[in-house]
Amino acid sequence: MSEALSRIRVILVGTTHPGNIGSAARAMKTMGLADLVLVDPARFPSAEATTLAAGADDLLTAARVLPGLAEAVADCVWVVGTSARRRGHSVPAVDPAAAARDLVDRAERGTVALVFGRESSGLSNEELDCCNALVQIPTNSAFSSLNLAAAVQVLAYSCRVAALEQVPASPPGYDPDPPATQSELEALFDHYLRALIRIEFLDPEKPRHLMRRLRHLYLRAGLSASEVRILRGILTHTERGGGRPPGSA
Ligand code: SAH
Repeated sequence: MSEALSRIRVILVGTTHPGNIGSAARAMKTMGLADLVLVDPARFPSAEATTLAAGADDLLTAARVLPGLAEAVADCVWVVGTSARRRGHSVPAVDPAAAARDLVDRAERGTVALVFGRESSGLSNEELDCCNALVQIPTNSAFSSLNLAAAVQVLAYSCRVAALEQVPASPPGYDPDPPATQSELEALFDHYLRALIRIEFLDPEKPRHLMRRLRHLYLRAGLSASEVRILRGILTHTERGGGRPPGSA
């Protein structure tokens, strides 16, 4: 099996019940996942989490606790959000097997993440706006919401199956055009906002709708780092009011 599983991060956002954190760690470890990040958990560390981890407490010890999702995904090259409900969101929603194959393939080139929401309310729209894709486990439509740790188990298993079936890519080596990280994409979105305000295409009082559409467009595209640099070069030139770009013949 490839190294892909070691580059799949599980991020639990705003978990209320520490027992779910422990059960999620156990679910991960059984499937060979180890990178656990907790965003703003209600209670952690906790004896209840350690008990339910049932031997996976090494994952809890190594888990990082961060204040927001943006920090948790900054170094990731692909981020998949999970949702029990189909949201009106314009990044693609895929089934667990397809999401897992994609994550395992992309993990060849960097860290990827699966993001899980709060027990009561799932992920917020702003958090979903950090995701390149969404996955929904096809549950009973009349009773669609799995326990958080059960959802982690299903997706961790899907990743393991995908990793077992993966045809190994060429050995890792120099990557001439690596995928953009989320922090490079966030810098692109900030730059877009500044440039669009500058050219008066966007009303700074109500940027939200257009910026969300642009985010979703670029998030689902899977841009490389050099493509982000090209777009930012165009934006810099646009901000300056056009004319012949520096260095052109
Ligand atoms: N009422 C919430 C349910 C949250 S369940 C909502 O409607 O979103 C807690 C978390 O478990 C979810 O945020 C998601 O990460 C995961 N989860 C539960 N059921 C799921 C399903 N059918 N598909 C994908 N993820 C699911």
